[in-house]
Amino acid sequence: MTNLEKEIQFIKGVGPNRATLLNKLGIFNLKDLITYFPREHEDRGNVKLISETVHGEEALISGFPVGRMNEIRIRKNLTLCKLIVRDESGSCEVTWYNQSYLKNSFKPNERYKFYGKVSRPYGKVEMQSPVFELATASKNTGKIIPIYPLTYSLTQNTIRKIIETGLEEVIGNLEETLPDYILNKYKFYDYNTAIRQIHFPDDFESFNKARKRLVFEELFSMQLALLSLKNKYEIKKPGIEFDKDAKMSDVIDSLPFKLTGAQRRVLEEIDKDMESNKPMNRLLQGDVGSGKTVVALIAAYKAVKSGYQAVIMAPTAILATQHLESFENTLKDFGIKCELLISGVTKKKKQDILDRLAAGEIDVLIGTHAVLEDNVEFKKLGLVVTDEQHRFGVRQRSTIVEKGNNPDVLVMTATPIPRTLALILYGDLDISIIDELPPNRKKIETYAVTKGMEQRVNNFIQKNVEEGRQCYIVCPLVEENEEIDAKSVMEIYENYKKSVFPNLKVEYLHGKMKPKEKDAIMEEFKNGNIDILISTTVIEVGVNVPNSNIMVIENAERFGLAQLHQLRGRVGRGEYQSYCILKYQGNSEMIRERMKVISSTNDGFVISEKDLELRGSGEFFGTRQHGIPEFKIANLFEDIDMLKQAQGIAMEIIDKDPTLESKENESLRKMVDEKFKNRIEI
Ligand code: ADP
Ligand code: MG
Repeated sequence: MTNLEKEIQFIKGVGPNRATLLNKLGIFNLKDLITYFPREHEDRGNVKLISETVHGEEALISGFPVGRMNEIRIRKNLTLCKLIVRDESGSCEVTWYNQSYLKNSFKPNERYKFYGKVSRPYGKVEMQSPVFELATASKNTGKIIPIYPLTYSLTQNTIRKIIETGLEEVIGNLEETLPDYILNKYKFYDYNTAIRQIHFPDDFESFNKARKRLVFEELFSMQLALLSLKNKYEIKKPGIEFDKDAKMSDVIDSLPFKLTGAQRRVLEEIDKDMESNKPMNRLLQGDVGSGKTVVALIAAYKAVKSGYQAVIMAPTAILATQHLESFENTLKDFGIKCELLISGVTKKKKQDILDRLAAGEIDVLIGTHAVLEDNVEFKKLGLVVTDEQHRFGVRQRSTIVEKGNNPDVLVMTATPIPRTLALILYGDLDISIIDELPPNRKKIETYAVTKGMEQRVNNFIQKNVEEGRQCYIVCPLVEENEEIDAKSVMEIYENYKKSVFPNLKVEYLHGKMKPKEKDAIMEEFKNGNIDILISTTVIEVGVNVPNSNIMVIENAERFGLAQLHQLRGRVGRGEYQSYCILKYQGNSEMIRERMKVISSTNDGFVISEKDLELRGSGEFFGTRQHGIPEFKIANLFEDIDMLKQAQGIAMEIIDKDPTLESKENESLRKMVDEKFKNRIEI
């Protein structure tokens, strides 16, 4: 078998310099190289008559040079090189820019092929900067040519050549990754053919077949990995059967509000999980403000009343503190003791917490990553809740889970992802969705504005602050940056404090500040001592300041839709009508469409659906906001059917062979191990 681990610099024609460039593309070894898939293909296979070329399309023509190449010096740095090419049907004027060295490349009686973009002004036929070669050659034309996504300083020709060389080394000897029974049943290409045809297809049909197989493999292996992970949890020892007499309804009846239908539904699902002996592994998806915290609180109540402890893990101290407040408010009437553990606490206080926790005197521990530390020991941990799951990796989840004896796990996220995708992507978790906001929540009115509206926006802020409200302003940058045309926190802060709102209390917040400073500012804002808070996106998901009712986002075009929606969720948390003002620059169709989507709906699921559609899964998931591995070839929006099929097949296999032990599944076992090894942690 071939050594796919072979370092890239030792491939023929690479060497140390090119290796450095290839490394930038994420290509370190032979395997990376052959799986560096083309972005698209150009059909340089079919020669067209000059008279049949179409304006605006790329075409391959073949003809003889007429006369010599003509050099025209336009100005100091611009020389046009023009050549007339004639075939049986007509002639074409070919132009290159600043490439005088081409002057002696053409012999009068030789036939050449030219591939490039055609334009046809006033009946003339022209071609700009084509690639060319002798009509008898077949290096750059005469076939379907792959175009690679990024190349840094490498030309397409160079990278193509390197990949070709790499393929020559391995094709025919690549180990098959899928078992025969799958290949046969679905009539997939074998791995060698697929890899060859994805780069250098014989025709577009072969390309499509190759792509299909590779997309399947990518999605299928992910599904298998997720399902066997889930399986690993499930076939472990039985979990805890929480007490049927510890009734969720007792705490529900004590709440100051009525639960929404969606909250009641997910609680029924959770209750059922908790009472069964199967350990719960549940993802709770719900938009910002949909009321996930109270669901966690009710689950914690049930755990504690059944004689267990619960832990709630939040990504920041601010959120953890906020959770502690709401938990204490409700649970203290039931004699349940809650405690906060964050990294800021004093040594003495911390030791006290650890002692009481180990002794079982603390019922609910709420904290940040600090709760993961080795010396945090529970007496009887029964329920683990993590908030905003995309911030915690799978490994962190298992670290905390291992502090108990197969406890139930509830993972909460406020990043809605399209329902269909969620079901599939979180293959290792069961899913509950809160798709309804508490009643009487006022819709956040959202306006997308351009520069001309600046004054009106400022007046609007002034008026609301005078009425006692508070305002957030979010910018993409901390400090001014000459290279990026976007607003910064410090720039706006200076301007607003000195000139625009000299009479208001303006403060700033960004990630470069010390945690203590950040917490202090946030505390001040919560207490109403700051009117306008200018910040980067550090103002946390889930931060609750009901008195703030305006969210201004500068350079909104720079944020993803999901992120804009998250940010908007910082307001609209109280009784006041709230507003989100998106200041944007640029006039592209895409930007306008995105602004339209976000202004027209407050439904996070609709927005994520649209975001996925507009940006494609590459970018959507590429942001890593979702903790989902990036795909090399699959596109989750386009390949959704393949994803479903892959999931179906993976489920069948795992049902029959849960640990993939059988001989015929040997290659799958390998594939899954590989996936776990590479599983990203955030
Ligand atoms: P998120 O899902 O974003 O974490 P929270 O749990 O912070 O949302 O809830 C947002 C606010 O809504 C909180 O102030 C909470 O007390 C309130 N809330 C939750 N459920 C209800 C309900 N059923 N009716 C009214 N208010 C509710
Ligand atoms: Mg929350």
